[in-house]
Amino acid sequence: MVVPTSMTDALRRAADLGRHGAFLAGGTWLMRDRQPPSTWVAVHRLSELRGGGTTEDHTRWGAMTTHSELGRVAGHPALRAVATAARTSAFPQVRAVATIGGNICARGFVEADLVPALLAVGARVQLHTVDGAETCPLEDHLGTAPDRDRPALLVTVSAGHGRQRRSGYGRITVRGGGEYPLTAVAVSAELTTSANGVRATDVRFVVGAVEHQARRVAEAETALEGTDLGPEAGRSAAAAAAAALTARDDLYAPGWYRLAVLPTVVAAALADLHSVAPV
Ligand SMILES: Cc1cc2nc3c(=O)[nH]c(=O)nc-3n(C[C@H](O)[C@H](O)[C@H](O)COP(=O)(O)OP(=O)(O)OC[C@H]3O[C@@H](n4cnc5c(N)ncnc54)[C@H](O)[C@@H]3O)c2cc1C
Repeated sequence: MVVPTSMTDALRRAADLGRHGAFLAGGTWLMRDRQPPSTWVAVHRLSELRGGGTTEDHTRWGAMTTHSELGRVAGHPALRAVATAARTSAFPQVRAVATIGGNICARGFVEADLVPALLAVGARVQLHTVDGAETCPLEDHLGTAPDRDRPALLVTVSAGHGRQRRSGYGRITVRGGGEYPLTAVAVSAELTTSANGVRATDVRFVVGAVEHQARRVAEAETALEGTDLGPEAGRSAAAAAAAALTARDDLYAPGWYRLAVLPTVVAAALADLHSVAPV
């Protein structure tokens, strides 16, 4: 293992190692690797990956922010989905060391909890390569194949938060807490309140763990747009999502089951969203 203290050194080491090396953050995903690379490039001493902060309209997390830290800090109500996803993922021991950067960069990790929540709140990622820094929407980053010759270090994750935006997260597991989700849903929307009640606009609806990559489901967003995000709207969104998704089978659950539980998971996500009153 090498432990660089500068990003330039970390990127150079990773580029030299190519497929024989990998960045190591909390190590909770990498520890499952049956054919580990010969050298880990540990990133815990890189100060740029630590800390973060919140302004009136923006929150930024360093890539080394742990699930525990994300779940503990209540943060802005618009980002509640991220805090709930972090707090309900894995076990306390794992959450204490697992990082937001690792969750995003664990390629092929279908059940990652933070990813759907971050997609729903429109998160952006800042990456550094030997060629410099670049920032892009998280969904673009997830859709780009990693380049071994030009490794990218994820440095920060950020998300904006309008005053009227709210978000929520729901997940279901085989036996209860502490396991990967079979189905996960994150919802984010602008809520306006009038004499006629609450109305949701600019809805973002993301499903994780069901297909091979978490993604927004436009059909469910349309079903929720303009509604009060109440139980009936939730059921319509779940039906629209079930019709649009191609669910995968694995050892833990067949695809049909992942879709059958969607109404329950959507209801949980909407209850989480409504747990903070709109303004
Ligand atoms: C028992 C157990 C239960 C778990 N349950 C859950 C769960 O319920 N939900 C869930 O979401 N996850 C779960 N996980 C998986 C894991 O904890 C998370 O995915 C975690 O967020 C990974 O973070 P890490 O810091 O440990 O990543 P690491 O294992 O250190 O790295 C993961 C990948 O990301 C790359 N990487 C890490 N940081 C960076 C960076 N800054 N820039 C570029 N690449 C980087 C690494 O090279 C590696 O490919 C569980 C793990 C265990 C062991």
